[in-house]
Amino acid sequence: MSADTDAGFAEKDGVLCADGVPLPAIAQKCGTPSYVYSAGRMATNAQALEDAFRAALPPRSQPLIAYACKANGNTAVLKLFSKRGFGADVVSGGELMRALRGGMTPEKIVFSGVGKTDEEIAFALETKVRQINVESGPELRRISALARRAGVRAPVALRFNPDVDAGTHAKITTGKSENKFGLAEEDVRSLYAVAAKDDALTLRGLSIHIGSQLTSVEPFAQAFGKLARLAADLKAQGLKLDTLDLGGGLGIAYRDERGPCLKDYAAAVRDIIHPLGADIIVEPGRFLTGDAGLLLARILYIKESRGRKYMILDAGMNDLIRPSLYDAWHPIRPVAGKGGGAATEHYDVVGPVCETGDTFAKNRALPADAQPGDLVAVMAAGAYGFSMSSRYNSRPHPPEILVRKGRFDVIRQREDIRDIINEDLVPAWLDT
Ligand SMILES: *Cc1c(COP(=O)(O)O)cnc(C)c1O
Repeated sequence: MSADTDAGFAEKDGVLCADGVPLPAIAQKCGTPSYVYSAGRMATNAQALEDAFRAALPPRSQPLIAYACKANGNTAVLKLFSKRGFGADVVSGGELMRALRGGMTPEKIVFSGVGKTDEEIAFALETKVRQINVESGPELRRISALARRAGVRAPVALRFNPDVDAGTHAKITTGKSENKFGLAEEDVRSLYAVAAKDDALTLRGLSIHIGSQLTSVEPFAQAFGKLARLAADLKAQGLKLDTLDLGGGLGIAYRDERGPCLKDYAAAVRDIIHPLGADIIVEPGRFLTGDAGLLLARILYIKESRGRKYMILDAGMNDLIRPSLYDAWHPIRPVAGKGGGAATEHYDVVGPVCETGDTFAKNRALPADAQPGDLVAVMAAGAYGFSMSSRYNSRPHPPEILVRKGRFDVIRQREDIRDIINEDLVPAWLDT
């Protein structure tokens, strides 16, 4: 790729830009609220991860990077990654369909999730995905039965729950024994032996995914260690194991935290996993898209009440639910004309949705002279932003805009409320 000096979000002449495009120009054309993505930043993130693995591992042992589509599943975003040779980690039949549409080849698609339906399993088999990551004994038996019925062998890996604390928010921890995800070690051992003897299954290996927004390599290294010991044991018993899927979870900077050092992460993969000689898969989601997106909103009102100042935006929790759901902290920046030394005030930044939880930030320092009509950007909203959005309060989904090298494209239209209402069906007995 050619050098892209404007990649990412940066101020130019006092105006916040995305890959060189001033955000007010996007707001003017597309309205607000809108999701704006930087293709340059996505590429930079992808490159950083590739570089870390290239430096750590020999060319023949490079991991398959299976982008976790649930972070941001827009077809254009998937295309951007599939063109780099990335695969996909999908958690539903819908995501599998998206990944295929996004250009991911089936042999690079991993199907994860605790509750796959018969239809989804059948679709995955028909599509010939690389592997289905299995999370329970009953699921393994369903997959086997469905594969037998279809006259194929189902490629499966068992998801091991290594019981390590990822040190992240309780709602995004997945690798503790009390979480619903994965199989305990003793269950992996017994099911692995069962699966090995089942001629409707092809055993690929093991997978883990211990949580999201990890900020240190330590929990990864612990989980890799447990995974490696278990894998070595299974191999010693003569069982087939050709793939180790290490899951996602790489964190990003939202506030003052930092994501894990990629060099150390890749070194942990090299030191702990690589010696087993298996194919390696990683499933980053947030790391690739999180800081490459923002939610562009306009101030509707400044309201003062009992000594508090509220900045009321035209974006709400239906557009970006992370602050309400996980107490997530997102940077909020004025888009224009409120440069460095300007006086600030503390605001509660809220949306129009009828929920007290519809609050993006409390007591946030923002320009004292902020006015209705001004644009603000809720930063680091490129992962689990649009993909978790809803239409609560009959608010249409916002559009998504992808910017690259000074140009932007709408990659998803703003919904029209009339179309949404037309999805309702009124039974004949009421329609008189
Ligand atoms: C959500 C998820 C991921 C991606 O997690 P990030 O924290 O976004 O990297 C990867 N693998 C599985 C199985 C997941 O459920």
